[in-house]
Amino acid sequence: MSAHHEALARTTLLLNQEWFAGRAEERAIADALVAGTVRLAADAEALSSRAGQAAFVTAFMLTARLGVGIELAAPNVPVIDLVAPLRLPGLLDALLELGANLIPGGRVRLAAGEVQECFAFGEGTVAGDAAVTVGVSDFAADLARGAGGARCEGELPFGGFVAGAAVAAIALRAVQPRVEQAVGITARAPAPWPGPPVHVSLVDLFPELAGGRSFDLGDVDAVSGGAITNALLFCLLRIPGLNVRVRVIEEQDVELSNVNRYALLRASDAGRRKIDELVGSAAGGVKIDGVASLYTKDSRAVLLPLAERVVVGVDDVQARWWVQEDDPAWLAVAATGNNLAQLTIHVPGGPCAGCLHTTPLPPATTPTISFVSFFAGLLQACALAAESSTPRNVHVYPFALGGPAGVMSFKPTRNPDCPIACSSRWSP
Ligand SMILES: [Zn+2]
Repeated sequence: MSAHHEALARTTLLLNQEWFAGRAEERAIADALVAGTVRLAADAEALSSRAGQAAFVTAFMLTARLGVGIELAAPNVPVIDLVAPLRLPGLLDALLELGANLIPGGRVRLAAGEVQECFAFGEGTVAGDAAVTVGVSDFAADLARGAGGARCEGELPFGGFVAGAAVAAIALRAVQPRVEQAVGITARAPAPWPGPPVHVSLVDLFPELAGGRSFDLGDVDAVSGGAITNALLFCLLRIPGLNVRVRVIEEQDVELSNVNRYALLRASDAGRRKIDELVGSAAGGVKIDGVASLYTKDSRAVLLPLAERVVVGVDDVQARWWVQEDDPAWLAVAATGNNLAQLTIHVPGGPCAGCLHTTPLPPATTPTISFVSFFAGLLQACALAAESSTPRNVHVYPFALGGPAGVMSFKPTRNPDCPIACSSRWSP
């Protein structure tokens, strides 16, 4: 197995299940992804706003983690938030340096050539009349197909995060025909449509965000240092004026197969402890401590007391129950299915994590992909930044962002068959 097959193993497992009902040769999927290329084009004005630059960096980071090659057509402007995983002060320099340390064999180029899709960030960006135009503001993303550019402005990065994830999903769709050709199978139909057009406003999901927050988040416990916590921290590190101390509880080491989705990770981190990678990314107002432990029935006693706010990103459904049983004052559980990113918020007396996460999954290699994991962490970041205290159940289907059911929010209800019997715990 080549290094790019190993690095992309979770992605190709997911695409094989979603597109080909498990019938395709997964190494051929990886080879076709790495052979594809999309162009990210931006003007200096778009990249001078935090929202626009967050969109560009996020799009690059998530698309490169698919293995898809990237052609950059943008000025080498100063990086606004010089935080992980970026290391160099010029934006092009930083992305080229990062791209060389993600999926082995992944290509990043500056010279113009054949591409399968073109994305144009900013009003002044000329990228042909069939580009996907990317417009962003503080909390919203708008992507469309057309010749005219779209404005990128805003001093908060939230809309940019959404736009970047949407770009990655559309980039994947653009190389899908090459993947189908490589494996000799046509993908299942009907397929969800990632867009364009895409319109997502995070204020629709988190109205509290619009109120002008101070982003003083205090102490937060993060149960898991995996993909979702990576995405959460990627976002928190880019929110201006944010102050938080995050305790990450995670005992595993980094594997090369994590680089397909861990937002802060580089391929060269393989073999390090996940908490060391995350602690090393702390910057500005984001303080990060690491605890090398799992959150289990046996270990949790030494991890108590929990912080006032707890975020959970573990695959293990039972671990979500154990955290809930320890009665955090505020709990946000983020999770992914193959094509679903989900966030649930729990406060004492309301529907609990057991009510909404009912079924333990058998141990198995989990299929994953960059932009789905990213959305789960982004939803957690929004919930924290908004200090949302209203229980809710948010579903995002990044493969279907161009359709009517791409983003949905439900009012959670008590489950009479709650596996941790919260009714008896919280009723007099
Ligand atoms: Zn319950």
